[in-house]
Amino acid sequence: MKIVFANSAWVSAAERLILRDGSWQKIRLPVRYGLIIHPRAGPVLVDTGYTPHAISGAQRGAALRFYGSALKPELIETGQPVQVLARFGLTPQDVRAVVVTHFHADHISGLALFPNARFIANDAAWARLKTKTAWQNLRHGVFPELFPNDFESRLDGLSSMEQIVSRGDTPGGADLFGDGSVIAVDLPGHADGQFGLLFAQMKRPLLYAVDVQWLVKALVETRTPGFPASLLAEDFAAIEPSSAVLRRFMATGGEVMLCHDPGPTEYDLTPEGG
Ligand SMILES: [Zn+2]
Repeated sequence: MKIVFANSAWVSAAERLILRDGSWQKIRLPVRYGLIIHPRAGPVLVDTGYTPHAISGAQRGAALRFYGSALKPELIETGQPVQVLARFGLTPQDVRAVVVTHFHADHISGLALFPNARFIANDAAWARLKTKTAWQNLRHGVFPELFPNDFESRLDGLSSMEQIVSRGDTPGGADLFGDGSVIAVDLPGHADGQFGLLFAQMKRPLLYAVDVQWLVKALVETRTPGFPASLLAEDFAAIEPSSAVLRRFMATGGEVMLCHDPGPTEYDLTPEGG
């Protein structure tokens, strides 16, 4: 099984907003997404990163237009899913599944690109999303126009999958491919139903913890940012317990990777070629 991560876009934020007692200096942050090439499940994406759909798509509602102009993500042409897949001799039609870790725009923006993909997501969170008003979803950074119309019929919910129990400080969760190679670990706090992916069978186990924190530093130094980050979190009180799960996993030798941390990792593709 091969795992790589690409950077779809740069966003920037004052460090203080994402690191308690950080500086006011702006830092540039990547928006990662992953590509797993699984021997049986085939090419599977982990989220889609930011694509033009969230930033310039014609069908965007007013709120998404505002969001795009306020955040001003700078898309990286060579880091877009179509280009990254091409580096592996693949097209969007070849993608068999997209794992949707949570429903924020920078994770689901490109779902419409993959006509043959199943969507592996937290079905309980999807059911809750459907009962919310447009305004409630908006407040939590969820833009319904980014979901393909047939999202639900292509949904493979975590609740229908075999659950692997946690062992010691190694967390458990839904076994995505039925072979223990990729386990969906619940990581509440940042967004409703957010889960990370544990690659438990690697020499050094890897847990892709998505948006539990923005910075690894905030995680290892226990510097969860307070206000105003607390306003944006789905469940602010759950961020610290989720962070503690990650710290325990790291203490046993596991590696934790985040979507937006600017530090390079061994799984990151180089911007071009390579
Ligand atoms: Zn998010």
